[in-house]
Amino acid sequence: MTIIPAIRAILDSPDLRLDGFLGPGHVSTVIGNRPYRFIARDYARPVVVSGFEPLDVLQGVYMVMRQLAEGRSEVENQYARVVREEGNPLALKAIAQTMELRTTFEWRGLGFISQSALKLRPEFAAWDAEVRFELPGVRVADPKACQCGEVLKGVIKPWECKVFGTACTPERPIGTCMVSSEGACAAYYNYGRLARRRGRATEARESLAVAAHPAGS
Ligand code: SF4
Repeated sequence: MTIIPAIRAILDSPDLRLDGFLGPGHVSTVIGNRPYRFIARDYARPVVVSGFEPLDVLQGVYMVMRQLAEGRSEVENQYARVVREEGNPLALKAIAQTMELRTTFEWRGLGFISQSALKLRPEFAAWDAEVRFELPGVRVADPKACQCGEVLKGVIKPWECKVFGTACTPERPIGTCMVSSEGACAAYYNYGRLARRRGRATEARESLAVAAHPAGS
């Protein structure tokens, strides 16, 4: 898969509600920072390429917030210890030699996006499982209840999906955002409950304070 067309499709969504992006450190190790420039230039959204350690993510979020506070939209590199501006030229060369773009590819949650995935070039057909074996066209349609597309576009928070934490959990995921541990829904399921529990505790304390000291008393 190639993520730039998918990001462009998300940015072109009329219901987009994302203010900035954390660029994926693993992908960026190969492709570098340049491919993200259109996000800052054409869509005025900050991008911070970030690593995966907790402090990387924290600093990446801080850098996005700082750009927003200062009214900037640039591509910044939090993961500079690994990601270089030009990426990995050797890996890019190997990919270009062995692969070509597919006309279209179906992304779960986002639908068909043109030229958003790669396939082996014909000269490597001997090693291409799609050519060598009769593989049925496997399509895994998202269940109707799944709102991954809206989660990806920031339209809803994961817990606002009707099946979050009930029919859809990390143990029995029904959408892609719940499948891997870094998926938005899985992350909210595993860690968001703590924040919401803290939020409820604060609300409860505030209501008690209001009840004890009603306005004007
Ligand atoms: S909670 Fe599950 S079904 Fe709902 S959007 Fe997330 S992954 Fe999809």
